[in-house]
Amino acid sequence: MTLAGWEVMGQMIFTYDTELTLKAACVLVNTDRVDGERLDGLPALDAYLDSFGWTGRRDHDSAELESVCRLRARLGGIWAAADDEDAAVAQVNALLRDTKAQPWLTRHPEMPEWHLHLASVHDPLWQRMGAEIAMALADLIRAGELRRLKICAASDCEAVLIDLSRNRSGKFCDTGNCGNRQHVAAYRERRAKEAD
Ligand SMILES: [Zn+2]
Ligand SMILES: [Zn+2]
Repeated sequence: MTLAGWEVMGQMIFTYDTELTLKAACVLVNTDRVDGERLDGLPALDAYLDSFGWTGRRDHDSAELESVCRLRARLGGIWAAADDEDAAVAQVNALLRDTKAQPWLTRHPEMPEWHLHLASVHDPLWQRMGAEIAMALADLIRAGELRRLKICAASDCEAVLIDLSRNRSGKFCDTGNCGNRQHVAAYRERRAKEAD
């Protein structure tokens, strides 16, 4: 391991937990941006949480699901504000405040290295998720990398992405096939022009 998760030769740009949390935030925001509403019940919420290893208190009721959907909308707003640093910072600060994010160092069998937790396992789900995501966004902003929050460049897609490429060249979401579709469309356009 290298300094604070920065790997000189490797792929990692932020610490592992920051990258994972930002990816989890993207997937959450995109649950209603591709193929309609996919967070359409508690089983879908369970599947999402399992896929990113979220643990802790679960209420398994509709209020819990609704609170996660509200968090999703709020995160979508932060992505939308990514071009306006002051606006994005204000929203991230508000999320840190509303989730009562409170960092402390911990380690446990799933993660034996010392790391930060931001909320108690007894806090409501949305609050724990929101605190972790707000902290990951704060990491991004502190590093001057807010522009890595992007909306997919495909004209018919509103999905969000976190561009973790070294030179910030990522443009398309990974929810479908947007990158490929755009290449094919550009190719057809060129061919059509050549045929004129
Ligand atoms: Zn942990
Ligand atoms: Zn897309």
